[in-house]
Amino acid sequence: VLEEAPKSGFAALGLSDDIMRAVEEMGFTDPSPIQAEAIPPVMEGYDVIGQAQTGTGKTAAFGIPALEMIDARSNAVQVLVLCPTRELAVQVSQEIGRLAKYKRGIRIEAIYGGDSIERQIRSLKKGVQIVVGTPGRVMDHMQRRTLDFSEVRMMVLDEADEMLDMGFREDIESILVDMPADKQTILFSATMSKPILSITKRFLDDPVMIKVVRNELTNDNIEQLCYEVKPQGKLEVMTRLIDMYNIQSLLVFCNTKRKVDEIVEQMQARGYAAEGIHGDLRQQQRTNVMSKFKSGITTILVGTDVAARGIDVSGLDAVINYDIPLDEEYYVHRIGRTGRAGLAGKAFSLVARDERNRIRQIENFTKVKIEKGVIPSYEDIVG
Ligand code: ADP
Ligand code: MG
Repeated sequence: VLEEAPKSGFAALGLSDDIMRAVEEMGFTDPSPIQAEAIPPVMEGYDVIGQAQTGTGKTAAFGIPALEMIDARSNAVQVLVLCPTRELAVQVSQEIGRLAKYKRGIRIEAIYGGDSIERQIRSLKKGVQIVVGTPGRVMDHMQRRTLDFSEVRMMVLDEADEMLDMGFREDIESILVDMPADKQTILFSATMSKPILSITKRFLDDPVMIKVVRNELTNDNIEQLCYEVKPQGKLEVMTRLIDMYNIQSLLVFCNTKRKVDEIVEQMQARGYAAEGIHGDLRQQQRTNVMSKFKSGITTILVGTDVAARGIDVSGLDAVINYDIPLDEEYYVHRIGRTGRAGLAGKAFSLVARDERNRIRQIENFTKVKIEKGVIPSYEDIVG
């Protein structure tokens, strides 16, 4: 008698054919560690707390079980996902949309501030089963009674640490209080802080805890280097690094909106396809900037932490810290934009004298030494 070979990869998780087909098409060969650990308890209906770094595939870790659970014949909202920013809401809804490609009748709506609420209301009226939204806008819809959550069976708090950092705690709690009591709650976060644990104590029911974090906070795929440079020399060093490493897609982080505009202007003057993203842009402008960057028309995106949080652009070659962040966790978030899904990435930090101390704090925090890079000379670039 021939024994059936033990199933491995996604097949071992017992997924339906339509999800398996989508996963294959997306190029996922094996579940990531957080997916392998979180998908089974989530599918079994447990409340789950998942801690994992950015870029580890958390969206599919809740998106796949959500899709397996939804009743596509019903028009009621059955899954609510809360995310910190509009960019993330769009990204998460798109990723779930790709996973749902072969599942018929699934409708997903991203709702966030800055977008017309009337348009959202019209879409919601057509019936959606998955709502992915920012807490502020979700609250807004709840107050207008344009969203009915009475049939919600799964509630996801995605990037919970970032939502709390952004001041959404009260909104999140009000939303949670209004959810059906028998729903399942999933919380994902890169870090676990006291306020997060207090939310989980209050709102999660005997949760399964999953932690997929290596000792070092930053991903091994990312080559981290710092360059000691005078403040007025940063732009020159940045262009040399771009040229020497032939960087085709780059995210540059600054600490202020003004700096973002300044650098974009200077880079454009030097002939680089650079654009900026920050909170002063209208939603439509932000969407345009993001789609030009994703399609490669723009090769350099310059942004502030809040604007660039969670941005997932596949194949990002490098991240440059033009300013060193004031908060060590921001450093981890920033460089986590590159080296995603097992690809190699570079993270360069341009360090002025008064920022050296911050690099040391970051090293203490991440327990990883950031080696000093050698500034490329003109000869290095022209060969
Ligand atoms: P996180 O939310 O943990 O930051 P995402 O869910 O945004 O991570 O996933 C990061 C990237 O990895 C996305 O481009 C996603 O399509 C890809 N990805 C997710 N799961 C897998 C997998 N099992 N194999 C390969 N790529 C994956
Ligand atoms: Mg995510």
